[in-house]
Amino acid sequence: MKKYILTSLLTLGLVACGNPAERTANAQGEAEAPKKNITVEELGDGFFMLLGPGGNIGVSVGEDGVYIVDDKFSQFGQEIIDTIGGLTDQPIRFVHNTHHHGDHTGANAEMRAVGATIIAHDNVFERMSKPFPSPRAKSGQSTPTAPNTWPNMTFSDKATLHFNDHTVKAIHTPSAHTAGDSIVVFEEANIIHMGDNYFQGLFPFVDIDGGGNVAGMIAAHDLALSLANGDTKIIPGHGPLSTKADLQKTRDILADVQARVKARMDKGQTVDAIVKARPLKDYESLNSFIDEEAMIRTAYRSLSGT
Ligand SMILES: [Zn+2]
Repeated sequence: MKKYILTSLLTLGLVACGNPAERTANAQGEAEAPKKNITVEELGDGFFMLLGPGGNIGVSVGEDGVYIVDDKFSQFGQEIIDTIGGLTDQPIRFVHNTHHHGDHTGANAEMRAVGATIIAHDNVFERMSKPFPSPRAKSGQSTPTAPNTWPNMTFSDKATLHFNDHTVKAIHTPSAHTAGDSIVVFEEANIIHMGDNYFQGLFPFVDIDGGGNVAGMIAAHDLALSLANGDTKIIPGHGPLSTKADLQKTRDILADVQARVKARMDKGQTVDAIVKARPLKDYESLNSFIDEEAMIRTAYRSLSGT
């Protein structure tokens, strides 16, 4: 297995990266390296996690080339390529999109332009290539993205790739964060990328208009938990690298949230009455862009099918 000396240099911040044209000058007129958005965490055995804006990226580097899971936003495409170029001179051959959201598929065009094949569940292709009802959109429908951003290899249930001496299994998790999620399991390396089925330490966004459901997200947690052990490294869609215990904790909270909302629905309470009662007050530390109220409304919609 190749050694990646550059990794430690990257960790120490000794490798300048980014487009030189973007370099800025400080007050003394001296050139400064551009601010890096993406940071690298080494997971061992040729695996890395790229953090920063957008969804977390999982990276497998080896003699077959580079396989990445998710690719953040379009504006970070070159920085992703440069960052991976600091880890290896091998090409990016495969990109797996865990779902269709733009913070996980945003740099697909840039990845296809450097020769990568984009792999995703069938529904990711559907959601990116066709309009769907979208109450948040002005027109009431989502707008398809450009054809050069679409996945060009899709699967319906499971896909297995044998790459860099690893068995890479993509497993669809139905009606979870969206209609088209999958988790990616690097079996020998004991690493699982959860995509947005797993928000670490936050109330999750469940895209119900995109085919998601809280029960499906809980099922996705259960699937990953059944494949994990105490040594498994779990990459969340958003948040820091996690353990099986962290994933279990989030699963239990989600199940508890669902049960608390259901108990009130069973008593005939309206969603507004449930919001007013604040049944999730003790979880307020999980508030982010999804707060207690949004979490209650999400659970209510998931359970009622509305
Ligand atoms: Zn998402």
